[in-house]
Amino acid sequence: MTRILIIEDEPDMRRGLQDNLEFEDYEIAATGNGSEGLRMAQKEHFDLILLDLMLPGMDGMEVCRKLKESGSSTPIIMLTARGSESDKVEGLLTGADDYITKPFSLKELLARIKVILRRTEPMGGSLRDYAFSDVKINFEKYESCKGNLELDLSPREFEILRLFIEREGETVSREEFLKEVWGYTSFPQTRTVDNHIAKLRQKIEDDPDHPKHIITVHRMGYKFLR
Ligand code: CA
Repeated sequence: MTRILIIEDEPDMRRGLQDNLEFEDYEIAATGNGSEGLRMAQKEHFDLILLDLMLPGMDGMEVCRKLKESGSSTPIIMLTARGSESDKVEGLLTGADDYITKPFSLKELLARIKVILRRTEPMGGSLRDYAFSDVKINFEKYESCKGNLELDLSPREFEILRLFIEREGETVSREEFLKEVWGYTSFPQTRTVDNHIAKLRQKIEDDPDHPKHIITVHRMGYKFLR
């Protein structure tokens, strides 16, 4: 059973999350205190942590930093009430895997949880190694190289490639990327996808201005050719 730790001090929010996630068949532990949450996360195994930012005991950033410092690889989704860009960036720098800004819908949170869990799940053997041109990718170890050079791909870039490869030759829309890779349920900012694709092209294409593998499909999205 997938275990999720909720660290959130607002009682209604915590109980609501717990009830809804239990209804979705997740096994839940919950606390309203940051340092208590850190202790629980260090003592027991969890598949995912939902971590509020403003907490008594120890704030979310600190909990996140301490967990990552202690070598934990448990993915963390930060729950933040503050929507400012600097918080989001700082949250990601301390090692959170994703963030969601309150108020969020349950549907949105569930989608994010599924994306993160899929990312960290051991692969079902289907897509472990993949190669095209001089690029080699290992989706299990998150390793990649182009020729003799190691590629510094972000987890998000791995997931974009994974979706491309699973749908090789088919056009994938920006909305599909946001849904499958980001776990978004509404799509106000499809430019996010374009920015990530542009960076990915810089890394994997011989000539990013004339891409051979990640092809733009006018008005539709992108497709991957091996
Ligand atoms: Ca709080």
